[in-house]
Amino acid sequence: MLNQDIERVLITREEISTRIKELGEQITRDYQEKNLLLVGVLKGAVVFMADLMREIRTTVDIDFMDVSSYGSSTESSGVVRILKDLDTDIQGKHIIIVEDIIDSGLTLNYLTKLLQSRNPASIKVCVLLDKPERRDLEVAIHYRGFSVPNEFIVGYGLDYDGKYRNLPDICILKPEVYRA
Ligand code: 5GP
Ligand code: MG
Ligand code: MG
Repeated sequence: MLNQDIERVLITREEISTRIKELGEQITRDYQEKNLLLVGVLKGAVVFMADLMREIRTTVDIDFMDVSSYGSSTESSGVVRILKDLDTDIQGKHIIIVEDIIDSGLTLNYLTKLLQSRNPASIKVCVLLDKPERRDLEVAIHYRGFSVPNEFIVGYGLDYDGKYRNLPDICILKPEVYRA
């Protein structure tokens, strides 16, 4: 049973839903009459992306990138690799990068610079979760769901070793699961 590996629920599905509605309203106001492209970072952001896009009431397209900075451990390797690039030419488009969580900032620092070099009209960053204690690299965050403590989080798209993404709430994993 997946639930036996969970120490506690940190943010409930109801709290997530309420906050995403607010983020959607904010984005809707900010992007009237603009060609908005949401760039989701696979795989962790898919659940967030699916809910967020349905709270945006202006024209919006989506695309995805897959990058890797973590193996199956809970620490960053310090290197970002592109596993899947965008299908879309982003020149002249208004981009929001949609990420599940910002930790060291390595992934978003890298992605923001990479996409900026392709001449979009603008780039902003939307993260569901922010672990501010862990930041090594500065990243401007324009839309933030929640600040979270420095604990390993799973659920609502976030995995440990490919598991727990399907949990509907944001949860803290029992440390013995990843120390084992
Ligand atoms: P950063 O590059 O900011 O250090 O880390 C970003 C990525 O690391 C996230 O997109 C996510 O995939 C992974 N990550 C960081 N903290 C956590 C966490 O608490 N739980 C999970 N499941 N992934 C995390
Ligand atoms: Mg991610
Ligand atoms: Mg992961």
